[in-house]
Amino acid sequence: MAARDRYSKKLTCPQCGNTGIADVSEDDHPSCKHPAFSIDDMPAGFFEEKNSNFPETYIVRCECSRKFPFRSLTEKTA
Ligand SMILES: [Zn+2]
Repeated sequence: MAARDRYSKKLTCPQCGNTGIADVSEDDHPSCKHPAFSIDDMPAGFFEEKNSNFPETYIVRCECSRKFPFRSLTEKTA
């Protein structure tokens, strides 16, 4: 039973200030080696630059061409 944990996160471009709400999902299963992270709904103005199973290494590209990880390592996950 691998339930998918779905949530939304506000993306903010550190360069131009563009913002949008992304709908994402992860496997909610403690024994999984990785959460199989995926963005189900990318907000307008943001694009997938590098797909990853982890939100910390999933790279989002803004329409201004700035690239940044979906979730920074210093960001609280709660
Ligand atoms: Zn931007």
